[in-house]
Amino acid sequence: MCYFCYVKDVAKISSVTDLPPNSIKSPSVALSTPVTPMMAQYHEIKNSNPDALLFFRMGDFYEMFFTDAEQAAEALDITLTKRGKHDGVDVPMCGVPVHAAESYLARLIQKGFRVAVCEQTEDPSEAKKRGPKSIVRREVVRLVTPGTITEDNLLDARSNNYLAAVSEVRGDLGLAWVDMSTGSFYSQTLKEEGLAAALAQISPEELLLSEKLASRPEYMGVFCELCDGLTIRANNYFDSASARRELEILYSVKTIDAFGDFGRAEVSACGAIVTYIKLTQKGRMPPLRRPQRVCREDTLEIDPATRVNLELTRTTTGAYEGSLLSVIDRTVSAVGGRLLAARLSAPLTDVANIRARHDTVSWFIDQTLCREDVRSFLREASDIERAETRLTLGRGGPRDISAIRSGLEVGRKIFSILTEAGETPSEITEARKHLTLEIDLIAELTQALETELPLLVRDGGFIRAGYNKELDELRGLRDKSRKHIARLQVRYVNETGISSLKIRHNNVLGYFVEITTAQSANMPTSTDSIFIHRQTLTNSQRFTTVELGELQGRLAQAGERALALENELFVKLVDRVLEQGQEITMVARSLAVLDVSAALALLASENSYVCPTVDDSHTFAITGGRHPIVETAVSGTQVDEFVSNDCFFTDTQKLWLLTGPNMAGKSTFLRQNALMAILAQIGSFVPAENAHIGVVDRLFSRVGASDDLARGRSTFMVEMVETATILNQATNRSLVILDEIGRGTATFDGLSIAWATLEHLHEVNGCRTLFATHFQELTSLTSRLEAMACYTMRVKEWKGEVIFLHEVATGVADRSYGIHVAKLAGLPPSVIARSREVLKILEEEDQSGGLGKLSDNLPLFSVKPPPSPPSKQSAVEKVLCDVTPDALSPREALNLLYQLKELFTD
Ligand code: ADP
Repeated sequence: MCYFCYVKDVAKISSVTDLPPNSIKSPSVALSTPVTPMMAQYHEIKNSNPDALLFFRMGDFYEMFFTDAEQAAEALDITLTKRGKHDGVDVPMCGVPVHAAESYLARLIQKGFRVAVCEQTEDPSEAKKRGPKSIVRREVVRLVTPGTITEDNLLDARSNNYLAAVSEVRGDLGLAWVDMSTGSFYSQTLKEEGLAAALAQISPEELLLSEKLASRPEYMGVFCELCDGLTIRANNYFDSASARRELEILYSVKTIDAFGDFGRAEVSACGAIVTYIKLTQKGRMPPLRRPQRVCREDTLEIDPATRVNLELTRTTTGAYEGSLLSVIDRTVSAVGGRLLAARLSAPLTDVANIRARHDTVSWFIDQTLCREDVRSFLREASDIERAETRLTLGRGGPRDISAIRSGLEVGRKIFSILTEAGETPSEITEARKHLTLEIDLIAELTQALETELPLLVRDGGFIRAGYNKELDELRGLRDKSRKHIARLQVRYVNETGISSLKIRHNNVLGYFVEITTAQSANMPTSTDSIFIHRQTLTNSQRFTTVELGELQGRLAQAGERALALENELFVKLVDRVLEQGQEITMVARSLAVLDVSAALALLASENSYVCPTVDDSHTFAITGGRHPIVETAVSGTQVDEFVSNDCFFTDTQKLWLLTGPNMAGKSTFLRQNALMAILAQIGSFVPAENAHIGVVDRLFSRVGASDDLARGRSTFMVEMVETATILNQATNRSLVILDEIGRGTATFDGLSIAWATLEHLHEVNGCRTLFATHFQELTSLTSRLEAMACYTMRVKEWKGEVIFLHEVATGVADRSYGIHVAKLAGLPPSVIARSREVLKILEEEDQSGGLGKLSDNLPLFSVKPPPSPPSKQSAVEKVLCDVTPDALSPREALNLLYQLKELFTD
């Protein structure tokens, strides 16, 4: 149970000291008995990092002790051992090898742990100088938390990884969020009721929160959603004056006012994020862009329930496949994939900006060849944004530099293509502008780097020959020594006369001379012999010589110096790259925009999407609209084709009441229109023959609720909470889809609520509404609500079966066909027959009379099970019954066959 659920359950909250045992882990260790110096050091570091697992570096392993070890061993399924005693009790211990630490880290982070990585920060020889009992110095070099990871294999390449902070200053809420792996940084001022929607939009991996906010009951539901990624800090962490100073220092400016008109709560949230990153990265700051202010009015607000219901980036079961994103995503680069996901989470409301995006997509639709060229180059582009961040944080390797080089090269190639393409829409012109720079940098990186690169700098061998004279000389020396060794082998063979003598190398002996045991009698072993015996194995003997030892020394020295020099050159290359960090970021952003636009163009061409007309009107006019996800699912089945439908809202007709049986396609129709608005406003074309959409400011839905047991809400309660949100917040620019409200309670209650809701939407909210219902009674409201119209899903009856046409037509459903659907679903025939009988009585009488008649006259299951078909034997069966096959001769069998055939034809 999470903290917030717990608090809710016990209905008390005074301070975070009420936390249940698991919500904040602080197994601080008291030093009651004398411990070894190393253990004392461990406890000191652990006590400063109580809420993280401590990866304590010991040689080639990260070791964990005490409860950390127990938790990690269980989470990672690794062996739990023990090391020494503490207070007379065995100390539990487990460890992971340093070279494989990343994959273990990934698993721990996924399971909701935070990890403090503690390294040895001095050479053991330095420690020895302080005295024989001194231990090597260790420090936490990094705190790994869900919101601050940067490694490729810990991150999803195609989605952002946000760390967010919420702060409250004098009644205003400030929200800030940052993707540390790409440097993007945003902030927003909010009202209390907008917090859930804003958090649902960015879907942060980790949320920073003050103790004060964490204890506010009204936010409990919101924070409960994110309980795995909550980090609660003391109130002074969010002090807005210190936050302002923190930001001014970070961006080296006198005042941050120049960045925008930030509210105090926003500044406080931004500052908390910066402080937290500084702390977790131990002072090394990633390249954070200046915080960009996001105005609530700039984006289409979608509340959390609607996001889930419409399955924008994940299906309701949490899968990517089957979501809208999975169906529309044709991007080919990681930066493009992330931008598309981000756009889908925050559709625009500004008409000019939306149209600019449509223009870009249109252009790419017309320029097919150019689009394909751009896309094929983009496929080669590596993830520049994340590579740059890793380099800034000192976590990058040669492959990150190479990624930047290849990304910049792709940028230049695309620049040439776009330049040749002539006149371009504004978004492309802007993107192209940023792809022209960095020619010198590309040239330098190309000269410097080998084609095949190691992952780590310490592996060496990544600087190309010819780039640095000194390195070439050191490598020459190394190669010369190797050749010398080869010559030495020839000389030793001649001197000893042992033709099978070899010079070999291993990590224990270094270089050595090896002969077979059979040849050992021929080996000179006198005291003045140059061969010094080192090892006897079953089949061979090993020797060294002074000359070989010297050569080895020279070789090792040259190798070490070459590696140290490569390291230096790497640092210089990183500096060189980071000097142009901002330009590189702009290249990445431009590539992302081009990728998304070209991908949306491809989507539109392949699936016959059209460019919607978007303006500031209240119109919503769709001709031949389709559901992008259901259409894709249905189109593969051959038997079925997706049936397109129209939807029209104008100033005089704003509310459609849709009736029709289950399975007729009501939900599909409702959702497809909501998705249409979203697609149009992210800048995509839409699945329709024609579309005119007056910009929607907020999108609400109330579709298919289920119990929210975690929050102690029944289905009906969830339904009512969602309806309340709509009625309280929808404006006359909003789009609302409501699917069957009032189902979860008694019929009259439900009908009354649906009735009043319709009236409120029509009279007060004035929003564009699609309202699907089974309550036929509601259709009578058309006489009073002039902007309401009745539509129904068409159904055909044929030979007693119901055929769903999936067509929306004016009118009202004449029947609900519920029993037909139940039959399709496989209810037992006796239940179906019984339902028909009950329905007939209820329809013939008024309801109360019908119920009386039912209880008086119709005993339970009076309907007899359908009789089994009479067991009448056919003529063929009769003959067959009388036959004994073994008694038949071949001729009789043939005759019988003729007889049977004759009977069958009759
Ligand atoms: P309802 O909400 O009326 O119960 P749904 O919208 O859930 O019905 O639709 C039921 C099924 O009918 C969908 O899963 C889909 O397979 C099919 N369907 C819905 N609308 C269409 C359509 N326009 N064209 C083709 N098939 C459709």
